[in-house]
This record gives sequence, structure tokens and C-alpha cells, in this order.
Amino acid sequence: MRYISTRGGIAPLPFQDALMMGLARDGGLLVPERLPSVSEATLEQWQRFSYQQLALELLSLFIDDIGRQTLNELIESAYAHFDHPQVTPMRRQGELFILELFHGPTLAFKDVALQLLGNLFTHVLGQRGGCMNILGATSGDTGSAAIAGVRGKPGINIFILHPHGRTSPLQALQMTTVLDKNVFNIAVRGSFDDAQAIVKTLFNDLAFRDRYCLGAVNSINWARILAQVVYYVFSYLKLRGLGHRSVDFAVPTGNFGDIFAGFVAKNLLPRGCIQRLILATNANDILTRFVKRGDYSRSQVIPTSSPSMDIQIASNFERYLYYLHDGDSAALRADMEQFAQSGCLDLSRFRARTAEDFRSHSVSEDETIATISEFYQKHAYLLDPHTAVGVRAAMACREERPVICLATAHPAKFVASVQKAIGREAPMPPQLAELAHRESRCEVLDADVEAVRNFVVAHALQKPGS
Ligand SMILES: *Cc1c(COP(=O)(O)O)cnc(C)c1O
Repeated sequence: MRYISTRGGIAPLPFQDALMMGLARDGGLLVPERLPSVSEATLEQWQRFSYQQLALELLSLFIDDIGRQTLNELIESAYAHFDHPQVTPMRRQGELFILELFHGPTLAFKDVALQLLGNLFTHVLGQRGGCMNILGATSGDTGSAAIAGVRGKPGINIFILHPHGRTSPLQALQMTTVLDKNVFNIAVRGSFDDAQAIVKTLFNDLAFRDRYCLGAVNSINWARILAQVVYYVFSYLKLRGLGHRSVDFAVPTGNFGDIFAGFVAKNLLPRGCIQRLILATNANDILTRFVKRGDYSRSQVIPTSSPSMDIQIASNFERYLYYLHDGDSAALRADMEQFAQSGCLDLSRFRARTAEDFRSHSVSEDETIATISEFYQKHAYLLDPHTAVGVRAAMACREERPVICLATAHPAKFVASVQKAIGREAPMPPQLAELAHRESRCEVLDADVEAVRNFVVAHALQKPGS
């Protein structure tokens, strides 16, 4: 399998190169040359597979330049630190099925992909003999999952910027208490946007980027999407085992990464296995307007209690748009340029096709808190605010089929919202409770490109011979 850019500007790449490139050099996103498909007979075979066995089969469809044995080891070690033997267990709660994706080291679904990504990076660097300095900005969750994915790994240093004093205390501790020598937390005296802008400036300095082998871990990396396809198929197979031939998924959506993995899974499986993807948004509803009316126009970011979904420009949307354009890169480029200039696109001509894939619903703040509260009263089960948005959308959009709701974070990570909904805090899992007593390390810097650049230079791994 080879990988091409949505914008059509690069020669097809093998998987390992796509992994290391992250964002395509022509500014597009990497996608597989074609989407493989899986037969009914194969599904029957997979029915009893463990999560790791299924991951090996699915990843092998997209990765042909890493040996099967090695890939198996990378998968096994990625999921060895999850605190549930099924990795992503599913629990029935009334009419809905809750797929718990938060059993990894940082208690959020990003661990599922980032634990594997760290292993894949290490493997490729080990073979090629290079090194990598990962640089990223976070408003909270992605940073800790990225750090957990590469801590202690040879050949990789990681620099994560967060806005000083503006993440939740728990989120900051999840990052700063990781004391491995290859982990560098930088608290920037400024906002998340300031931190993000600094990272962008450094990446756009191509000489600097090449000299220091800068690597990115945001959700534009194809390998992250690929890792997430697994739990869609895994949970589908479970319901199939119970006699359900056809299901829907409800997905709390921010950057369109998770739900794009659902789109890949839908196309991989025989027709009708996954009928609809229910795209759940909070007050930042650009994607809901797109699904309902074909209106893709950005507005101001509104802060909500589901901060990982407070996004107006979903970085993975380009991948879906590429498929809507049937792989016509020129048409896609024209759309992306128009959107960059005007901030809006009329995609209403695709409405019939979009309706084949998606339903969508936008959930208000009050509804989010009310959903946590009602769900708890009814089922004695606590949802985090992101999952609550998905559950609410599932209830609004569900048809006659079972709906699997993706639970993207552990409720204990969102103390204030849970307190508001049920009048007390969620029980703290031990790995969060003990953080406050741990030693922490963090560099506080001004929101200044040169200050960050100097810090990175002083602590970066260097290419041999440079
Ligand atoms: C990142 C995140 C999301 C959104 O996922 P996307 O892939 O960006 O759509 C939802 N919930 C939580 C808890 C997250 O951390």
C-alpha cells in the first residue's frame, strides 16, 4: 500500500515514509492510494479475535513495509499499559452501547493512537538510524497523551508547549510529572493560540525543521487515523456476535480525526455493517451545519465544557472532502484555497452523498450538563462532557439500529462539569489522585519564538555528524 497527498503534489510513498512525513510536503494530507475492503468470510474469522489480533490484521492491510512479527510486537507493547484486558471495552447502558476508549495511561482516547505511534516512530528510527524532536502545542489532552506515547524512547525528544496556568491543574500535572530525560514541558506565558503560533512559526522555518528533524504528533498523521479504525471494527464485531448485522456510531468530534477513522471503517466493511456515523458537536457547530445544509463556514471559537471539541477548522476534514471529490486533487485544492481566503464553502451539492455517511447534531452547554446528570440518574454511569455530547446526539439521531457511543475521556478528568451535573466529584482513579504528590518539572518561558527556539536548540537531539 502506498500513500498519496490529497493535493496531488507528491510521488506515492510507502507507509514508513508517510508515517515520518506527517503533513504532506505539498501542504495536503496523506491518504492511502486506495481503501481496501474486507469480506463477510474474513469478518467471520475475525469474530473471536482479541483487540491486538484484530489490530494486526487491520494494520497489515495498510502497512506492508514492516514485518508481521515486528508489527505484532509493536501492537502488543502499545496496548500492554491499558488497564483493561479488552483495551476498549463496551458496556450496554439502556438502549445505547458505550465504547470506553479511556483505559490508556492518560485516560483519554488519544492514547489508543499515540501509544502505537510512539512505537512506530521508535521502530523506524531504529532501522534508519536517525533521531526526531517532536514539537507540539496543547490546550490539555493531546500533550499528555503524546508525552505518554514517547517517554523514555531512544532517538526521540519531545517538547510540548502549554499555556501557563490555563490548562486544568490536573492536565498540567499529567504532563509535568513525567520526568523522563527526553520529555520537555514548556509553559508559555500566554494563551493556547500564542503557543500554537510559536510551534507553527518554527515548523514553517524549513531550514530549522530539517536541521533539528522536527516531528509532529497532531491528528494529521495517517498512522493515528489507522490506529483508531481498529476499535470501530472491534466493537462492530461484538454487536455482530449478538446478532446485530448493522450499527451506527456516535462520535464526539473536534478535528474530524476520530470520525474519519469511522469513515474508513465504514468503507472497509461490507456495505451496511456501519450504516451512519452520528457526528456530534458542541456549540462549535461548523461540521453540523455542513452535514445538515452543506454550509461549511467558520466562525469564532466558543469555549465549552468539552474543550477538545472547541474547534472551528477541523484539520482532518480535508481527507473527507478529498473523497467527496472522488480523488480530484485539483478540485480539492481549489476548495481549500477558497476556504482559506473566505472562510466559507458551499458544499450543498454533496448533500445526498454526505447523508449516506452522516447524521449530525449540535449540543448546547445546558444539554451537555443535563445529559451527564440524567444518564447518571438512570444508569448510575458517569459520562465525561465530550462523551455526553455524543450520547445526546445519539439520542437525537438514532434510528432502529443499535448505536455505539464513543466514550472519549474518563469523567474524573473533568472535575468541574461533573460537579455541576451531579453535585459532587467523580471518583478519582489512583493514577490521577497520586499526581498531586509527585515531583514535577517544567520550563516557564515568555510567549516568544526566539525564547522557545533557543530552548529547543539547547535540548534537541542532533543528527549524527551535525
Ligand atoms: C481529541 C478529543 C476529541 C475529538 O477528537 P477528534 O479526533 O479531534 O475529532 C473528543 N473527545 C476528547 C476527550 C478528545 O480528547
